Amino acid sequence: MDVRHVIVATAAMTQATCGRGESALPVASPPHLAIVASAAPELPSIEAPPAAPTDIDSASVVEAAPTRVFPLHLDRPGLSLSHFDSSTCTGSFGAGRSPGRVHAGCDLYFINDDGDAYKDAYYALNKGTPIYAVADGTIEDYAPFYAGTFALVVNHGDFVVRYGEVKSGGLPDGLAVGTAVKAGQHIADMGDLQMATGRWAMLHFELYSAERSGPLSDFSNRTYLHVPVASYQRRADLADCRPFLRALLEAGH
Ligand SMILES: [Zn+2]
Repeated sequence: MDVRHVIVATAAMTQATCGRGESALPVASPPHLAIVASAAPELPSIEAPPAAPTDIDSASVVEAAPTRVFPLHLDRPGLSLSHFDSSTCTGSFGAGRSPGRVHAGCDLYFINDDGDAYKDAYYALNKGTPIYAVADGTIEDYAPFYAGTFALVVNHGDFVVRYGEVKSGGLPDGLAVGTAVKAGQHIADMGDLQMATGRWAMLHFELYSAERSGPLSDFSNRTYLHVPVASYQRRADLADCRPFLRALLEAGH
């Protein structure tokens, strides 16, 4: 069976409150995109030549699903994960940004039960939180990103992830651009995001389908392969990371 990955659209939209308690600008609800496995049909060919003898019994070869894990460990007592796929959350994909820009990823961080009055405490809750590779891959870039943080780009083979807003000043021991990483490996830590509204710490997670190459930020791009036209200011193969991350959560990783 030839198993390959394709990108399909789904329509589900989760409504939930945002952990940071900030109001998002109204944005169009783009169709969700999910990377899922599908089986290519095996059609008999006309006048197919006899199969060549082989040492491999193809019927016995099962291509294992790739190992994928959520990029944060969720066993934090008293804390829960931000509502990253809520359309009302500023940390969600497609949420409004200024000036005239929309959010190209999902912000992942931990929240407590105290609500908006304690949102300033989120920095202390999250700073330095370890981040893990969602799949096997190779580190492609580690460079300054946003408001004093860095971004780590990992090519995972059939997709690319930019792990943004991570700690500046170096990667964990043994890691550098060009290093191979395994699913679940500690690859970075949440950084110190120094914004006008205060200090924050989170993982800004961006997903690409790996159908393009070159820099992930593209301020002039207006067309996208998998998401509606909007001012993401990103490479054309940007994908909606919400269903990808939700699937990892639902799989219990
Ligand atoms: Zn973000």
